[in-house]
Amino acid sequence: MRSISYGMRIIKDYNLKELNTFGIEAKAKFFVEINNEKDIKELIASLEFQQNEKLFLGGGSNVLFTQDFDGIVILNKVKGIEIIKEDNRNVWIKGFGGENWHEFVMFTLNKKLWGLENLSLIPGTVGAAPMQNIGAYGAELKNVLENVEAYDVKTGEKVIFEKEECECGYRTSIFKTSAKGKYFISAILVRLSKNINVNVSYKVLENYLKENNIKAETPKDISDVVIAIRTSKLPDPKILGNAGSFFKNAFVEDKKFGELMSKFPDLPFFKEDEKVKIPAGWLIEQCKWKGKRLGNVGVHEKQALVLVNYGGASGAQVKELSDKIIASVFEKFGIKLEREVNLI
Ligand SMILES: Cc1cc2nc3c(=O)[nH]c(=O)nc-3n(C[C@H](O)[C@H](O)[C@H](O)COP(=O)(O)OP(=O)(O)OC[C@H]3O[C@@H](n4cnc5c(N)ncnc54)[C@H](O)[C@@H]3O)c2cc1C
Repeated sequence: MRSISYGMRIIKDYNLKELNTFGIEAKAKFFVEINNEKDIKELIASLEFQQNEKLFLGGGSNVLFTQDFDGIVILNKVKGIEIIKEDNRNVWIKGFGGENWHEFVMFTLNKKLWGLENLSLIPGTVGAAPMQNIGAYGAELKNVLENVEAYDVKTGEKVIFEKEECECGYRTSIFKTSAKGKYFISAILVRLSKNINVNVSYKVLENYLKENNIKAETPKDISDVVIAIRTSKLPDPKILGNAGSFFKNAFVEDKKFGELMSKFPDLPFFKEDEKVKIPAGWLIEQCKWKGKRLGNVGVHEKQALVLVNYGGASGAQVKELSDKIIASVFEKFGIKLEREVNLI
């Protein structure tokens, strides 16, 4: 172990099992926890950082370790929430990267601000949220994102990515594509609304409100419903290792959609812009994977999109299961599913 500053220690051969929601055993050659912006700058200047492959980790809820990590894992614990400015209609709030995402959402809801309520209870950190432009229940981070503050890991220079520069798309952004591994996301700025702005574009949410006769008057009302639906549907990683949806939904062109409809008339679909979205969970279920278990790994019994670790599974076993699912969906539908989870 080497201390590079007061409070910041670089540890060798660190076990990452408690730091990923899949609960996979894997070791990092070096490990360090950062707690403030000073730590970031000192870390970037250190030899261990400069000479090794780097992996920034928040809540570990969107990673699958398929092997030990032969580099330095940096656990982001840089916390803080600041109100930057406000006008008659909006409030701009900055969240530091190591802040827990749900606590950040709760902070905004307690101030009766609209914009993040549909994204309640997503595990992980604020800093990872722009990575895949987190989304749920008809909302995406990009709807409220103003900018992303990041450090260039080569130069140590701080840069601001304006929303348009983040290239946010469905479960993706520039940080997952062309800028992958090049930046440490230190904070985000969101613009939230003071005025009522209910988003029930997602049918499940709308139906729940109707069936339970709930009139959403505050963003907290929507958040409560989102939390109720999520807890009834998704496995708790503390009980059953998982990383939420393992696969992305599929998007197909009109021609392919026509072919699929003639073969599978029950095919569920959603028209989005020029393309047609097909729920990956349905495709996986049709291939009879839902609830299937192969040794220590399996497909969740209620959610075909979620792969689980029943205990003691290796990342390679989870990956192998995902390969099999991708192959059988491709064979039956000619659609190549993409993984949402980051393979390490
Ligand atoms: C039960 C469950 C439900 C989920 N539901 C949803 C959902 O509804 N919608 C959704 O979008 N996602 C969902 N997820 C996935 C996950 O919660 C999100 O992707 C979340 O944003 C990941 O945050 P994290 O801090 O855990 O990231 P990590 O898993 O720690 O990291 C994910 C990736 O981001 C990188 N990264 C992390 N922090 C930084 C940083 N500061 N700078 C640069 N790179 C960084 C990592 O290197 C890695 O590649 C779910 C996961 C679980 C377990």
